[in-house]
Amino acid sequence: DTTHGAILYLEDIVVSFDGFKAINHLTLDISVGELRCIIGPNGAGKTTMMDVITGKTRPASGTAFFGQTMDLSKMNEVEIAHAGIGRKFQRPTVFEQHTVFDNLELAMKMDKRVKTTLFARLNGEQRDKIAAILQLIRLQGEEKRLAGLLSHGQKQWLEIGMLLIQEPQLILLDEPVAGMSDAETARTAELLNELRGKHSIMVVEHDMGFVTEIAQQGKVTVLHEGAVLAEGTMQQVQADERVIEVYLGR
Ligand code: ADP
Repeated sequence: DTTHGAILYLEDIVVSFDGFKAINHLTLDISVGELRCIIGPNGAGKTTMMDVITGKTRPASGTAFFGQTMDLSKMNEVEIAHAGIGRKFQRPTVFEQHTVFDNLELAMKMDKRVKTTLFARLNGEQRDKIAAILQLIRLQGEEKRLAGLLSHGQKQWLEIGMLLIQEPQLILLDEPVAGMSDAETARTAELLNELRGKHSIMVVEHDMGFVTEIAQQGKVTVLHEGAVLAEGTMQQVQADERVIEVYLGR
């Protein structure tokens, strides 16, 4: 077993841009059902790491395995998405002219594994699945609203719902609470804590209050200069001298 039972296994990854190593011998693994927070100062390599995982950027060297058998270095972006890695970018990209319900329905029908067509009527099981997602993403009762009329936070939740409905095996979230109100941030933390154990999720986030809320039972990885600087509970990484130095510049 090359991946040690992990859903994602990165080993000794290097990514160079004109000789500059944006990712510099990065080794990291995510277990099935884990909710992992990735933090680190600007330029640490967080975005580049996500680009490697999703096939947008090819590493110069290193190993990247998804599940037990899939070698990400041999797959393109589309193949990786179809294999079950779902990424949510920072800005919400919902269908603004469609209702909340229709957004979830469209996401479900875009899922390649679902044997349906765009105009087919949903069956009871599919309706139940959408209802469960609506409840999870705090949009129950809002299903008939146009997505374009939702708050920024609600749009982010809807997009998380659109990801979840396709049942990805690994979910990558890029700064999910950027631009959210404090109340929305708190509800997003609750939402993610509900997903813990049921989905494998990697969250890149700058909001340390939010990270503290979702990292209480999980691990935090601190990236710096393209490699892992520290990894452990929030308490452990906060107390780590190297982390303090990087964040406070002492
Ligand atoms: P983070 O997401 O942690 O802020 P990035 O992954 O965006 O960090 O960037 C890591 C480093 O790589 C930065 O120094 C950045 O300037 C550099 N970098 C990222 N993408 C490119 C690129 N396409 N060409 C050149 N340098 C890049």
